[in-house]
Amino acid sequence: MQVQLNPAFSENKTAKEAAGLLQSCVHCGFCNATCPTYQDLFDERDGPRGRIYLIKHMLESGEAGDTTRTHLDRCLTCRACETTCPSGVKYGRIADAGRELMETVVSRSVSDRFLRRMIRLIFPYPRRIGVLLGLGRIIGPILPRTLRRQIPPKQIALGRSRSSSPGTRKMIVLGGCVQAAVTPKTNAAARRVLRHFDIDLQESRSAGCCGAVDYHLGAQQHGLNSVRRNIDAWWPQVEAGVEAIVTTASGCGVMVKDYGEMLKDDESYSTKARRVSELAKDLSEVLEAEDLGVFEASGIKLRTAVHCPCTLSHGQKLSGSVERILKRAGIPIAETTEKHLCCGSAGTYSLLQADISQRLLARKLVALSVDKPEQIVTANVGCQLHLGTQSDVPVMHWIELLDK
Ligand code: SF4
Ligand code: SF4
Repeated sequence: MQVQLNPAFSENKTAKEAAGLLQSCVHCGFCNATCPTYQDLFDERDGPRGRIYLIKHMLESGEAGDTTRTHLDRCLTCRACETTCPSGVKYGRIADAGRELMETVVSRSVSDRFLRRMIRLIFPYPRRIGVLLGLGRIIGPILPRTLRRQIPPKQIALGRSRSSSPGTRKMIVLGGCVQAAVTPKTNAAARRVLRHFDIDLQESRSAGCCGAVDYHLGAQQHGLNSVRRNIDAWWPQVEAGVEAIVTTASGCGVMVKDYGEMLKDDESYSTKARRVSELAKDLSEVLEAEDLGVFEASGIKLRTAVHCPCTLSHGQKLSGSVERILKRAGIPIAETTEKHLCCGSAGTYSLLQADISQRLLARKLVALSVDKPEQIVTANVGCQLHLGTQSDVPVMHWIELLDK
């Protein structure tokens, strides 16, 4: 697919990158078969191929309208299309670039701008999320049931480690934003489990949100500032020789693994960003490399359905890693269907595209329930909370099972 860049974009780096990446698309349309929004709406413009055409049109005409904005906004950035595409089209990067450019040529309504601004002002900050949730819990009893179900129960993370001595193997863990505020049990459990393998998980207080909230809402430069802040926070430990930078939320993990690519043109940060991405590991990668014999007699006999987040399967290409670990720990795994489809959480998507998100959630819960599981586990805080709003069985992070 050839792109004739409009003169308005001829000196724009993002536009030039998008134009280059678009060329590998041969418009075969295979990707529509696994695209959740195409499967939900059956509109060509709500599939990857249609969105690629919309971005191509914007690059060539130098303009875009409500139609382009609507269909790009509806994309979950789940990257199922990348897994399916036989031509290796880097759709996720094309979508991010398309959105960044779109924000410069199409205006949004006041209410849309307000909602996006509020999300960006609250979600990357654990304390602000905590205050909001606290308020929600106070007025919860008078809220409509549908709204009340969106407020997760309060979690209290007990004890940092069962061992008093620090491990000799050092790894950094990303505290993150939403997970730190809403599901603190996850990192507490990860600390205790990794301690079995002599691993000491260290968290830098000056690190924070991985940058994904801003980056995927069209505020790429703000997102990159968070990326630089995290690199600065981790760098002393990286220089001291940490073994890995562990992420326990796969949505953050896919972002950290991309830091090197995002800052490749930043002279001050490119080398450091590349090193950070080399060190980044999802928690499942760390545990798969260890001898899990210690967990074999876990005694957990509850049938467990695993929801592999898109950011783990399509983003990090780690499909099946959680199932393999749980099986090695002797935990019975329930069958599931439609593993490639997003649950509809997708970062802030459930707030911005509530109708599609709810339909995808209902479809995902059916797919997860075909084998009548007694609990559901996942690897990303967003999926965990989203599934938890409608699931009839408990939903948790998989590391909590090993911790038990
Ligand atoms: S993105 Fe890939 S699968 Fe989709 S139309 Fe283009 S080449 Fe085909
Ligand atoms: S990222 Fe997901 S929702 Fe977006 S076009 Fe690709 S498959 Fe469809």
